[in-house]
Amino acid sequence: EYVIKNAEQYPNKIAFADKNESVTYKDLLSLAKKIAYSIENKIGKRKNEPIAVYVNKGIKELIIFMGILYSGNFYCPIDVKMPKDRVEKIVLDLNPLLIICEKESQIFENVSILQYKEIMNTDCERIEYAGWKNIIDIDPIYVLFTSGSTGQPKGVVISHASVIDYVQWLKSEFGFNEKNIFGNQAAFHFDFSVADIYSTLANAATLYIIPDELFAFPMKLLDYIEKKKINTVFWVPSIIVSIANSGILEKIKLESLKKILACGEVLPAKQINIWMDFQPQIEYVNMYGPTETTVASTFYVIKEKIDEKTTVPIGSACRNSEIILLDENNESSQCGEICIRGIGNALGYYGDVEKTIEKFIQNPSNHKYRDILYRTGDIGRFSENGDLIYIGRKDFQIKHQGYRIELGEIETIANSILHVNSSCAIYDYTKKKIILVVSVGNDLLTEKQIYSELKRKLPRYMLPGLIVIKDELPLNGNGKIDRAKIKNELMG
Ligand code: AMP
Repeated sequence: EYVIKNAEQYPNKIAFADKNESVTYKDLLSLAKKIAYSIENKIGKRKNEPIAVYVNKGIKELIIFMGILYSGNFYCPIDVKMPKDRVEKIVLDLNPLLIICEKESQIFENVSILQYKEIMNTDCERIEYAGWKNIIDIDPIYVLFTSGSTGQPKGVVISHASVIDYVQWLKSEFGFNEKNIFGNQAAFHFDFSVADIYSTLANAATLYIIPDELFAFPMKLLDYIEKKKINTVFWVPSIIVSIANSGILEKIKLESLKKILACGEVLPAKQINIWMDFQPQIEYVNMYGPTETTVASTFYVIKEKIDEKTTVPIGSACRNSEIILLDENNESSQCGEICIRGIGNALGYYGDVEKTIEKFIQNPSNHKYRDILYRTGDIGRFSENGDLIYIGRKDFQIKHQGYRIELGEIETIANSILHVNSSCAIYDYTKKKIILVVSVGNDLLTEKQIYSELKRKLPRYMLPGLIVIKDELPLNGNGKIDRAKIKNELMG
């Protein structure tokens, strides 16, 4: 409906642009119709079915998303850079009716494929299939797969209502409108990009997909932002940090950029203070939330410099979200596991009722009606003035280069390598490095071989920066791998 409305009101306005091409709202709508028509041709009149998208990042990917939604189905973006093994796991779990690809792909067997080129060659100017009219707002809009500790990624299912509520809140809180020009960084299989895509559509704004290679060169990146007159960005803290550390902020004044909204991992006070010192005209916001509650559930507008001995608060709940901290007795507390209730909560994990029940629980203080809380596994506390402060994780989930990773997934894959007896993945927060310690049953197995095996099965960002081979891994009193001891030995 956002696209349809914008195509009427702003037909020639650019909706999305990447380094090669751009698409106006009018063309976005007609391409979406074309895709929906091709989908119907291929699978018939179906609704609420998963359709996977396996294309390189660019405006094509977004056009395909809109086509799938127009057809009344939901999309699941799959990273083309991911190893074949992990792609297969996701496809097996999702069991999509269709996969939309750029070209003929060898990796998918027994699944119907639709090529983008094929769709574009279809002649269907006046025919359309508006399957979207048959769905309601609690139906799924997308499934995003996140790292799973058992080695199997988990598909988080989000509804249209969750996304609409979130972007309407962003609009009213930050005054977004048709003058907004967003600069996207996040991959479209990462939920932070939902803020980019749908803030653009909900406000008839424009989104530039910033070329990936610019993120390694802060000066070029900021030049690009100025050239395209980008005024709002949703960025993971690692980018904010690397620009601050590069020393260029003191040499320039950014004219276009008005808002930086950070989310996804701890935002360090030191670097945000550098930004505030040299670019005080920008509004800085720290947001917090997992994929399971639709992008972000809390936010903190940074009004003044932060004491560098503390961390940037994650603030207070976004509209229609509530934060409850549960202690070990499942009682509401000032410090405990961050639990989230609200319209942003996912419909669950795709095809995994058990995991859904485990993570989305009945509010322990409500025995009268269904009242669901999502248990994030994050620990937080309320400060004296009521701001939520992020403390850390309860389990073995980490954030590395902005990506959410279960160390258990790395271990499961490592353990599956022939002659590996057991393994333990730990994270060195100071050096920002994943370390994998393995005990092997064959002296001939080398670190290099283990690395190349892992490379075939894990995405690049999950690969260890260091592999250490040991005869045996130490065990604790419970007979479990003694992580604390390993950590101590390696990092002191
Ligand atoms: P994802 O599902 O990839 O968005 O990752 C969600 C997890 O990232 C949360 O459960 C937190 O552990 C972490 N996270 C997200 N935002 C923040 C933040 N502002 N500060 C600290 N950790 C964060």
